Amino acid sequence: MIQEQEIDVWLRGGGLVVAASERAARFLVGSYHRARRSEGLKAWVTPSVLDWRSFIRNEWTRRSRDERLLLSSVQEQSIWTRILSQDSQTASLLEGPRYRIANLAIQAHQLLCDYAPHLLGDRARRAWQHDPGEFSSWLREFDSVCRKDGLLSVARAPLELIDLLESDRGARPPILLAGFDRILPTERRVFAAWSTSGEVREAQLAPSTPQVHFYQAADPDSELAACAIWCRRQLAANPDARLLVVAQDISDRRGEYERAFLRFASAAGRSADAEKLFEISLGIPLAQTGLVRSACLLVRWLTGPIEEHELDWLFSSGHTAASQEETLALTAFMRALRRKRWQRIRWQLADFLRQRPGAELPRAWAARVLQAHRRLFEANAEPKAPFTWAELVPQLLAAAGWPGTRTLSSLEFQILLRWQATIESCATLGFAGRAMTWPEFFEVLDRAAHESLFAPESTGAPILIAGPAESAGLTADAIWVLGADEENWPPRGSTNPLLPLAVQREAGMPHSSPQADWDLAAATRQRLMASAGEVRFSYAKQAKGIDKRPSRLIDPIAAARPLPAEFSSPPLPQPAASSFLDWSQVPFPSGAAAGGANILTFQSQCAFKAFATVRLAARTWEPAETGLTVLERGLLLHDAMHRIWAGPPEGIRTHAELASKTNLEAFVTGHVRALLSEKTPLRARDGMPPRYLELEAKRLTALISEWLRYEEERLPFAVEQTEAKSAAAIGGLQLNLRLDRVDRLNDGSLLVIDYKTGDVSPKSWDPPRPGDLQLPLYAVFGLGPAEGEIGGLVFAKLRAGECEFAGKVRHAATQLKADLNRGTNLVTKPLSRQEMAAWRRKITELAEDFLAGRADVDPRDNETCKQCGLHAVCRIEETRAQTAEGALEAGDE
Ligand code: SF4
Repeated sequence: MIQEQEIDVWLRGGGLVVAASERAARFLVGSYHRARRSEGLKAWVTPSVLDWRSFIRNEWTRRSRDERLLLSSVQEQSIWTRILSQDSQTASLLEGPRYRIANLAIQAHQLLCDYAPHLLGDRARRAWQHDPGEFSSWLREFDSVCRKDGLLSVARAPLELIDLLESDRGARPPILLAGFDRILPTERRVFAAWSTSGEVREAQLAPSTPQVHFYQAADPDSELAACAIWCRRQLAANPDARLLVVAQDISDRRGEYERAFLRFASAAGRSADAEKLFEISLGIPLAQTGLVRSACLLVRWLTGPIEEHELDWLFSSGHTAASQEETLALTAFMRALRRKRWQRIRWQLADFLRQRPGAELPRAWAARVLQAHRRLFEANAEPKAPFTWAELVPQLLAAAGWPGTRTLSSLEFQILLRWQATIESCATLGFAGRAMTWPEFFEVLDRAAHESLFAPESTGAPILIAGPAESAGLTADAIWVLGADEENWPPRGSTNPLLPLAVQREAGMPHSSPQADWDLAAATRQRLMASAGEVRFSYAKQAKGIDKRPSRLIDPIAAARPLPAEFSSPPLPQPAASSFLDWSQVPFPSGAAAGGANILTFQSQCAFKAFATVRLAARTWEPAETGLTVLERGLLLHDAMHRIWAGPPEGIRTHAELASKTNLEAFVTGHVRALLSEKTPLRARDGMPPRYLELEAKRLTALISEWLRYEEERLPFAVEQTEAKSAAAIGGLQLNLRLDRVDRLNDGSLLVIDYKTGDVSPKSWDPPRPGDLQLPLYAVFGLGPAEGEIGGLVFAKLRAGECEFAGKVRHAATQLKADLNRGTNLVTKPLSRQEMAAWRRKITELAEDFLAGRADVDPRDNETCKQCGLHAVCRIEETRAQTAEGALEAGDE
């Protein structure tokens, strides 16, 4: 290949190569070393290859005589952000938007330096208005800060270097340029100045006569699969081949690329080496790596709250624990918190350490994080130089036991080094004698971790996946370019909103005109065609429901044709696991079972649900809420009703006592206030303002008062029991039952009552699969004959504006309320002896099923599953998918 040979000869002759990007420079150095090894050499001179930025930085530093500091990207961003925070237009912006505008301003400044440096002078921008006008004033301020503090933006360094080169006529080494799809105006001027005393040449591209193919795939998945299969075939034919895959959407579809190439690797029988088979050149944000994410969360937690799901992640990462046992203890502690229903949306460290949910935090772990917390607390009192904070961060992490005791992998070690470099870059923020508070410093560090891209060191994998721009300067034996449709090739982009459009067009800045995009894409295509002996382009005919057309840049070279059959995705291999119906049953030993009436309700709803909750202790949990949860509100209501009907001296017990309350509202208010002061969960009390709790008290008072006014209209009754407890033995199964309330009606019979705040109906008691058995169970098995005959069982529906009874009563109009509408179910569908007998049979049958160990995954309906939360245990979704697949196949046949 001409370019590669030319570069090799140039480097062997001691010449300097300037590459367009860091990736291209690394690639050229790697190729040079490979070539020397293949010649059998044992030692050789390091080649002179620099990327453009390093070249400029080196030359400016070497030639400049003044003491100015060349700004790092973190330092430059800090200056622009400070300028924006002092500007009347942007001072009130939140941090996030302000940083985004600062980044746009940095880009705009870079564009002016690269394309139109004559506009850097303040007067040249006098006519700019609106957003460009604002940017112009920020740039003026930026220049003034740099002048005052002796600073220089990296974007300006090439412009200064031009002057330095023009005034220095000393001999310079010859330069060969590699991987420049286009040379920007300022770059051209730098090389022109260099060439006054030294040669500058562009590496020649090979004549573009490769085999070219252009494919049309049905969709992006089959396009990607075809590319991965092609790679496999190429490597099967030549294991030493170097392949380049060029794609534009790597950042959005990174996971899909990894999966496709891993699948291909395992199909090639190289699963052990799968990770080394391909490399993705585009890095991921450093903060998304496990090690750095855990470090940022841990440090943030030392002074502020973190979300509960972040805490779950932090503990399960193992980066805060000294051993596997500590990790298990921490996750067990989280579980215990949820079993107590003490979950919170976010946790402060001090609050978390105070919790005693019945599980213990590992003492050594608690001591470590407390020590780190104290250390930061002592240092946090006043602003400090950034390097002082930067020194403290590793100390805090070490004190807290980060990154754990597990030996780090080579990849994690690279991440660790990058994290240390990021901390060090933030340490340099004190360049103008600036002091920072801890929150200010941590915010900069956290943002730097999010904005730095981390890419692992190259392992020399045979397949490299890169974006079009990153592929500049790379060569390969064969190239596949994905996504070559009309929309993506030339790629679309937007102009910079802080520069006038006319200026951008005139200077030919990126995306300022369709022609500029077309020219760049044509140059990239030309370069790719000269970089390999075989180049394949492809595009998906349809993506996200939109029809695509082939790129007009590729179509004239090779007409798009359907993917060849050999590149079709092979069917997935048979799963290693096979499914079978498991009808085996493990009987429950006779005796008491914890769970009360719920056991048989669950057995009816889905036998596996009863098995999993009672015998495996499986639980779902409610997501944390800032205020009271639905469940907590329900419990408070039950407690309030219990207090009210507990009888004298504070409560009442009969209809007559209720009717005698002249100020019902005040009576209820007293009970509700006393209850809330005792029983409001600590989380809600600490996390919510007093006004919220007042509103909760008002809401509860109004609801209970409305209900009591409804009960005032009842026929005479007396409350027999509240929170009534009873033991029932059903065919060898012993259950402890509890019911909200039992009333004695005017004819001496008993009415069992269950308070509900949701929309419930007695239909849920109907065989063959009752959805709720609490009331029938209590009515049939919970009360002995000595206590009296059952007069009815009802839900007391406490719903604002809709308070009423719903259920079954023998003679509702004479036992419950005289003014009942004659058409209501309470009147038209009275409780019968046959129903009582049917419930007895059904309940006995369910108890026998439970005792026999019947645990089939057979939900009563979809609603049951929606409210269950045990999907991960019963794997109902997989079963449903298999059933649907089976039905489909049967239909096909
Ligand atoms: S999610 Fe559905 S199938 Fe699974 S245990 Fe719960 S009710 Fe049964």
